[in-house]
Amino acid sequence: MGVVKVHIDVATPKHPEASIMIIYTGGTIGMVLDEDSRHLVPFNFSQILQKVPELKQYQYMLTVVSIEPAIDSSNVSIADWMMMVRLIEENYDAYDGFVILHGTDTMAYSASAVSYMLENLQKPVIFTGAQVPIGRVRTDARENLITALQIAATKVEGESAVPEVCIFFHNLLLRGNRAKKVESTQFSAFKSENHPALAKAGINIDYNCTAIMPHTGRPLKVHYDMDYRVAILKLFPGITPYVVKSILTSPELRGVVLETYGAGNAPTTPWLLELLSEAIGRDILILNVSQCDEGRVDQGHYETSRYLLEMGVIGGADITTEAAITKLMFVLGQQLPQSKTKELLMKDLRGEITLL
Ligand code: ASP
Repeated sequence: MGVVKVHIDVATPKHPEASIMIIYTGGTIGMVLDEDSRHLVPFNFSQILQKVPELKQYQYMLTVVSIEPAIDSSNVSIADWMMMVRLIEENYDAYDGFVILHGTDTMAYSASAVSYMLENLQKPVIFTGAQVPIGRVRTDARENLITALQIAATKVEGESAVPEVCIFFHNLLLRGNRAKKVESTQFSAFKSENHPALAKAGINIDYNCTAIMPHTGRPLKVHYDMDYRVAILKLFPGITPYVVKSILTSPELRGVVLETYGAGNAPTTPWLLELLSEAIGRDILILNVSQCDEGRVDQGHYETSRYLLEMGVIGGADITTEAAITKLMFVLGQQLPQSKTKELLMKDLRGEITLL
């Protein structure tokens, strides 16, 4: 992995209104047709002004950092999250905001992970991408990039308008750890069912101030330890003991996101309850997340979830699977005593859950 850095000053001769670092990781947004117009290949983002000349109308100081090789986000790894976070940490004081260009497929996972890794964030970190490559005529890349930059540059009374890790896509600014990719063909690719949009971009960008995290005023604290020893177990009618057992007994496992039905319900069949309770007995943390996009886990509401509550499965409230699996990685990475780890899982760390 390498990094190529290019500074673009579109403000000169005026004083720049904002300085923004663009971190290009890959994905559809950065694709253009190759010389014989047959294949999509990654675009050299240092030439961004050729593709998005509208940027010249802003008085921004831009630095484009391209991570090489650019990746399809299906290949994103914990090491890539660490690289993004390191770039932000090293450049935090020099920039007003950060825009991360990323493939849409795993953007919600990356935005969730980065939100946990950056504690006390006071500046915007905005993930965006596109459904249609920047080199195509009907691309959504230009709009997404321009609006993401504008949001990253916006300040209210000297402070960043959105001191959060977010996803901007189509016309919505969403909290990163609340977002989910819901569309693979339409431009409106992301939704956040359990937390309102932080802003909507129409003729103006309307910020929903009550939905945005307040500034804490505390110094940025960066975390790099993410534990990879986690799994997602999605229940379905007909699931067999072999499948459940193979996941719950996989070597080194420390935490599982259990994707249940509705309000956190699971079959009451004894073999399942025994396997889950035996895993908890081996100190494996089990976080109950609903397969429904909207609503919340309420363990004990139905008999089919009461057993889970009684054996020590942790209720995930209204968290998304993307935010839950990365929260497990983050919390387990802290190497805390088991009771403290459980406590952190139940806590709202970065606005990822609504506590009632
Ligand atoms: N496969 C691509 C990616 O996630 C899709 C996209 O960027 O929209 O990298």
